[in-house]
Order: sequence, then C-alpha cells, then structure tokens
Amino acid sequence: MTARRPFIAGNWKMHLDRVAIDGFCKGLKLNLADPVDCRLGIFPPVVYLERVLRALDGTGVTVGAQTCHPADQGAFTGEVSARMLADVGAHAVLVGHSERRHVFGETDSDVRERLDAALTAGLDVVLCVGETLDERRAGDTLQVVQRQLQVGLSGVDGDTLAGRITIAYEPVWAIGTGQTATPQQAQEAHAEIRKMLGALTGADAAARTIIQYGGSVKPANAAELMDCPDVDGALVGGASLELSSFEAIARFDRQGV
Ligand code: PEP
Repeated sequence: MTARRPFIAGNWKMHLDRVAIDGFCKGLKLNLADPVDCRLGIFPPVVYLERVLRALDGTGVTVGAQTCHPADQGAFTGEVSARMLADVGAHAVLVGHSERRHVFGETDSDVRERLDAALTAGLDVVLCVGETLDERRAGDTLQVVQRQLQVGLSGVDGDTLAGRITIAYEPVWAIGTGQTATPQQAQEAHAEIRKMLGALTGADAAARTIIQYGGSVKPANAAELMDCPDVDGALVGGASLELSSFEAIARFDRQGV
C-alpha cells in the first residue's frame, strides 16, 4: 500500500485578528521544535496571508488562501487572483469550499476555473467536495461528489492530482454543526472517492492522493477518523482557531500516549 503523509490544515474562514494570529503563529513555531508527523497547513483570511507567511517562514507549514478569482487581473472589485496569491508567496488555495458553493453560489464549473487558475499560477490546491443533508437523505451523496470531482478535475492528469491537489471530503451537514461524520461514514465516502479518482486519472495516482476529511473535527474525534485507511488528514474550521486544539488534532497519533 502507498504511504500517504497526513495533511492537517486549518481554515480560519473570516476569524481572528492580528494579535490572535501573531500569538498563534509564534506558539506554533515554538512548538514545532517537537515536530509533528504530518504536513500542516493554515488558510488565513487573505488580508493576513503575508503576515502568516512571514511568521511561519522556515517551518514547512503550507500557507494558503481560502479562494481565488480565475482571471489574472481585471475589473473584479473585491476579488484576488490566483496569480496575485502566488505573487505574495502563497503556497496553496482552497477551492470549492461549501461556503463558497452554497453562500456565494459558486458552481462546479466556477470551481474548475479556480482550480485551473491556481495550478497555472503555481499554487497547490485543496479541492473541497461534499453533499448537503438533503442530498444525503435522498441517497445522492456519491452522485453529488462524483459530479463535483468530475467537473472540478476535468483535464487534470494523475501526477498533478497526486502531487499538487488534495481532496477535502466535507459533508456540508457536518461543517460547523458539531455533527461529525462517523468514522464508518467517512471511510465509506473516502473509499468511494478514491475509486472515482482512480477512474478519472488511474489507480496509481488515486492511491497517492491525499483525501482529507472535514466537518467538526476536534481533538476528541481526530484519532478515530485518522485511523480510517482512506482518511489522510483533516480540514479543520472551528477547532483550528485555538492553537491548543489545532495542535492536539495535528498530534492525533499521540492521543492516549
Ligand atoms: C471547514 O470549514 O472546512 C470545516 C470543516 O469547519 P468545522 O471544522 O468548523 O466544521
């Protein structure tokens, strides 16, 4: 079996301020003297991106934005392009987060355009997919995720997928609700997603691709989720805002030790 290094990332959404961010980054840098066994990522509000990049320089932590506009530049008031993110040194960008899809109305093809722009700009990508509660209740989970992957990844080759793209499976009903998917639900969805990725780009690339779980991950449930064979890390919202809980999730393998 291919060894995949877990990737634990914090999506700060529209939270925190300079003082909180400086404290978080200073503490994280100090604490990484005791290294973690996974890749870490932080996705701050874009206005703080350069601050976090500077503060975590040299730590190996991936720092990225939460969205990007597909055009390089233009009359798009309020937007930030993937090329601009790369220009200030960002490593990565989230695309297709459920709040972008459901609050800001991004379609699958909008997500695909953003992913394409990000790759072209040299950024790594976390592509978020997941079904709403109604879609799950209707038995449409796999169909929805398959459509999001098929459109989002159209034209992407296996090496790009495995090397530069992380898939985050985030059931919408579990995001910010405290209602985490059970390890069984997460494993079932992740195994199916890996099969879908195999059909899109080949089994070898699919076996190397990181698939994070996202949706109310906390220190208390991180280890059991990460124990699932196809769960390769987590995209964490609320519990990433405090260094102590983010770090406890990142050190999931030491729980109970
Ligand atoms: C998220 O926003 O990607 C997320 C998973 O949020 P939370 O952990 O708060 O559910």
